[in-house]
Order: sequence, then structure tokens, then C-alpha cells
Amino acid sequence: MKKQMKITLLGTGTSQGVPVIACDCKVCKSSNSKDNRLRSSVMIEIDNQTFVIDTGPDFRQQMLRENVQNIDAVLFTHHHKDHVAGMDDVRAFNHKWKKDIDVFCNAITEEALHKEFPYVFSDMQYPGIPKVNVTLFKNKKFNINNIDILPIKAQHYLLPVFGFRIHNFVYLSDVSEVSEKEKEKMKGADLIILDALRRTPHISHLSLDQAITLLEDLSPKRALLTHISHLMGLHDKVNNELPSYVQLGFDRQQIFPNT
Ligand SMILES: [Zn+2]
Ligand SMILES: [Zn+2]
Ligand SMILES: [Zn+2]
Repeated sequence: MKKQMKITLLGTGTSQGVPVIACDCKVCKSSNSKDNRLRSSVMIEIDNQTFVIDTGPDFRQQMLRENVQNIDAVLFTHHHKDHVAGMDDVRAFNHKWKKDIDVFCNAITEEALHKEFPYVFSDMQYPGIPKVNVTLFKNKKFNINNIDILPIKAQHYLLPVFGFRIHNFVYLSDVSEVSEKEKEKMKGADLIILDALRRTPHISHLSLDQAITLLEDLSPKRALLTHISHLMGLHDKVNNELPSYVQLGFDRQQIFPNT
């Protein structure tokens, strides 16, 4: 049976978000809502399941903005603050649905979560703290409630990070290098959401040109770029320069990739 999938871009901004605090550049001052970017995250709705990839500092606002009533799982790409800082706010779903939230991450991220949120993992369970069930994954297919998740291992400068493939949808943010072997997992996708920080090179992120070069190799039907800095330029202007199948993503954008 064909499964309809809905992707919502919860945030498409780099770690500082856009606008950047105290910046008066033309992107930060833009009146186009597509130039406002919360920290990067995506929501996947498939087969009556709702998954969120990363819970950055804007997680609460993102859940409110999309009127999300329930989530079934959180998948973490890596432990950087702009991807995990909002995990405390899964409390709302714990409280509403009287359930723990399933969290999927690798061992490095788990260790960081224990440091970041010691009270969540402490033996002394203070009332009202977030309740999560952490499941570790390696670079091997796993499933969440019968939905297959294929991790894609990549390098974010020195840090190994994960992207995910779910059916024909691929999400990979915070990446500077992908091996040939892992690229194979990304091929034939209907939609790829990929890191592209800015135009100039960066040590731990793909630049716009590097992202497009990688996408040419992967040839998805459609691609959206995420984790965007204010230095990228104005949304509409940059999009006019891009090949037709690739665009900058924007917050609240929704796509229905073929599964
Ligand atoms: Zn990041
Ligand atoms: Zn700015
Ligand atoms: Zn990062």
C-alpha cells in the first residue's frame, strides 16, 4: 500500500537563526517572512505517525506555530545545541498523552543529552521533568512503529552526524562531507533536504556551491536547502539563481514527496 508522507520544515536557519540578534543587514531586516528562519528541524507525518528530526532552541515555538498535538518520536542528527536545546519541551506531550517520548540517537548524542539534561536521566525523578525513552541506533536500518529509517552517516567537520532516509525522503543537515558509500543511500530520492550554510566555504557545513555539486551527483527529483545563514542572501534573490529542482527551503514549507 502506498503511504502518503507529509514533510513540514519547522526551521531552516543556522545555529543563530535569522534574523540574527542585533544584526541590521538586509536579510535580517527583510520584510519577507521567508527570510525569517528558526533553527533547523523538520517534521515527518506518515502512516498516522509524527516524527520530528531535532529539537533545537525553537522547538516550543515550532510546535505551537504548527499546532502539533502529538509526536511519536524524536530523531537526533547530532548533539549541537541548535539541535537538542529544546528537548525539555517534550514535557507538554508527556503531560497531554501520559506517555514517554521515544528518542532515537547515536551514542555520542546520548552522552551529550545526559550532560545537557542531567535531571532527565537522574535517579531522582523530580515531578514534571521530561520523560524520554532513548534508543540508540548505529549506521544500520532500524524502524519506528513499522516505519523504516535508514541512517546516513556523514562528517560535520570532525563530528560524525546522521541524516535519515524515510522512503524516498532524505534529510541531511550539518554536513561537510559524505562518503561515496553513504551517497548511494541518498540516490533516487523524491526529495532531499540538505545543508547549505552560505555562499562562502565553511569548515563544518556545505556551501551553496558544494550542496549543488552534491545534489547533481544524487539527482533527486527535488531538493530544498536548509541550515541557512543570513550571509546566504535574500531568499527570493538566491532562489532565482538556482537550478529549477533546487530551492532554498523556508519555514513552514510543506511538501508531499512520493513514497
Ligand atoms: Zn546546526
Ligand atoms: Zn543579518
Ligand atoms: Zn552542528
